Amino acid sequence: MKGAKLNVAVIGAGISGLSTATCIQESLPAANVTIIADKFMDETLSIGAGGLFRPELEIGSSFDEIVKYYKDTYDHFVKVCLSEEKAGIQFVSGYHLSSIDQNICMNKLLSNLLPDMRLAPSDELQRLFPQRFKYGYFYTTTITDPRYYLPWLQNKFLNAGGKMEKRFIANLQTDATLKDFDAIVNCSGLGAKNLLNDWRLVPIRGQVIKVKAPWIKHFYFADGAYIIPAFDGLVTLGGIKQYGDWTSKVREEDKQFIWSRCTELVPSLQNAEVCWEWCGLRPHRQPLRLESEIIEVNGSRIPLIHNYGHGGHGVSLSRGTALKAAALLNEKLDRNHYLKSKL
Ligand SMILES: Cc1cc2nc3c(=O)[nH]c(=O)nc-3n(C[C@H](O)[C@H](O)[C@H](O)COP(=O)(O)OP(=O)(O)OC[C@H]3O[C@@H](n4cnc5c(N)ncnc54)[C@H](O)[C@@H]3O)c2cc1C
Repeated sequence: MKGAKLNVAVIGAGISGLSTATCIQESLPAANVTIIADKFMDETLSIGAGGLFRPELEIGSSFDEIVKYYKDTYDHFVKVCLSEEKAGIQFVSGYHLSSIDQNICMNKLLSNLLPDMRLAPSDELQRLFPQRFKYGYFYTTTITDPRYYLPWLQNKFLNAGGKMEKRFIANLQTDATLKDFDAIVNCSGLGAKNLLNDWRLVPIRGQVIKVKAPWIKHFYFADGAYIIPAFDGLVTLGGIKQYGDWTSKVREEDKQFIWSRCTELVPSLQNAEVCWEWCGLRPHRQPLRLESEIIEVNGSRIPLIHNYGHGGHGVSLSRGTALKAAALLNEKLDRNHYLKSKL
């Protein structure tokens, strides 16, 4: 039996699920929102992300839509960065460098959203990175450290009356535990591959080394390798992007590759203490899935909203796509007077 109040289930407790659940609470304060996931916090993919806000066009549906998702997220990060000390967001400046092509370092989105972006002249590149890079841009953006931002979002969600349940959903239509919900929002990341048989969803494997290097204050992106400083002196070193690779274990050869590329770029990293090594599978889908449908769950027809497939941009798109998912839910409720009356 469904309750007298509107009950919404959000599947997924990564950055997409937590962001979407909080946006739903903001737009429908009278609803009961429950996050259901088999993994929370440190077990999620989201916890290992470098957290750099760096918009790319590769994930898009339409250009205008993707610009909006990035812009909404950036505006949110700036606002939270300036007002909340515990959310793990900070401004950071740095270089994006290439020895091959200027267009690798910049795109239309970056120059629109981060207007202080400037071309680094060749004498500056030569002075800082002798004989290494032909092209480079310098700009300021945000870093959202998931070790702080996920708990901050989760607290926000719980303080607004949200509930959390730890379990695996094998089948959306027959899972008996979903029978009490009036709507489902699917933020299951790569989990949607099995949950929905979505052949478009492909892992892009990543691996990082997290080191203690509080002296690193800038980010560096250089010919695929990257160095991203986070809170409390932790720095993420990475540069692995392996399409279609399901291996979820750290590989020694990838570690060697990251270490040699990053220490060549910033030699002082040789002295950094390695804190942890980690590997994660980015949920890549072209286009990412942000749409709604009606699904039959245990005999009842209810709205199902999808928000997954953010690939390597799930932090940078988190708030914008969450707002869109909440708006899609509102649209579906507007068309269903019975559900609307529960609010
Ligand atoms: C090395 C690396 C570096 C990255 N750096 C950046 C960066 O700098 N900037 C950026 O924007 N992005 C970055 N990303 C990408 C970012 O991490 C992802 O896009 C983002 O974390 C995806 O979040 P998500 O919530 O969709 O998925 P996840 O974090 O994977 O969450 C999925 C949730 O769904 C749950 N779930 C799945 N299936 C089921 C099921 N059947 N039943 C119950 N629960 C289920 C899981 O338990 C989990 O809670 C990086 C990724 C990697 C790997």
